[in-house]
Amino acid sequence: MRTDFEASYYTRLDEGKVRCELCPHFCVIAEGKIGICGVRRNQAGRLMLPYYGMISSIAMDPIEKKPLYHFFPGSVIMSVGFVGCPFRCPFCQNYSISIEFASLVSSLSFFEPQELVDRAIALGSMGIAYTYSEPLIHAEFITEAARLARKRGLKNVLVTNGYINPAPAEDILEHMDAANIDLKSFNADFYSSFIRGKIEPVKAFILQAAKKIHVEVTTLLIPGKNDSDEEIRDIAKWVAAIRDDIPLHLTAYYPRYHYTQPPTPPSRVLAAVDIAKKYLRHVYPGNI
Ligand code: SF4
Repeated sequence: MRTDFEASYYTRLDEGKVRCELCPHFCVIAEGKIGICGVRRNQAGRLMLPYYGMISSIAMDPIEKKPLYHFFPGSVIMSVGFVGCPFRCPFCQNYSISIEFASLVSSLSFFEPQELVDRAIALGSMGIAYTYSEPLIHAEFITEAARLARKRGLKNVLVTNGYINPAPAEDILEHMDAANIDLKSFNADFYSSFIRGKIEPVKAFILQAAKKIHVEVTTLLIPGKNDSDEEIRDIAKWVAAIRDDIPLHLTAYYPRYHYTQPPTPPSRVLAAVDIAKKYLRHVYPGNI
């Protein structure tokens, strides 16, 4: 782990505490402690980034796997993963890098932002996708990597849960070209009770991003939790009110982490797609 990268987006408080202002959790962190996301630590009264540039995986993926269906279709993009997440989804599909990543720390690889860009060019990639785990909690690193990548003619893609405050979001979006953003539910209680977040900042980020870059939205359908006809209608109507050509991906959940319910039946995903298509021009099933 690194000890020499200081965070942006924080305020020093009394008694050596700091308040991180990157995401809507606004963690107040005592000396020696780490925020909810697991990657931003108070070291001697300064907010530091022990996981700056620490990459959990790099792979060349079809852009459709992000999923982005309306952004350079048919292309392949270098995709990089980090560790940590501000949410605690009991059904997390990537929990080993997002929540319980302690056993992985010794296997992470350090990249300077420029090294990541050089790797993308060497691989012949059209850009860099910041994905697999939640990239926004690594705002400082991805902003710098994306700035350098754009200078070399590469595209930058975010795959994110959208949990970020408006000011840092603006700094990141400045360098991005496209994003797939999760809207995990249209129910505030789902966010607050089930995954320990808030829905309004996510909706605000989708609106903010859609004004600046290409955006597609994904909802992972969890049987009995967020897949009612009414909730699908609410999601589709809300996205359509931004623009009815924003693609919506409705994807099947598979049992992972603490959640053992059976996977979403393909028939349920396809029925949800039919509902959403009444409001949106591009709705796609996923994971079936
Ligand atoms: S980014 Fe991490 S440390 Fe900062 S407020 Fe969010 S969860 Fe807390």
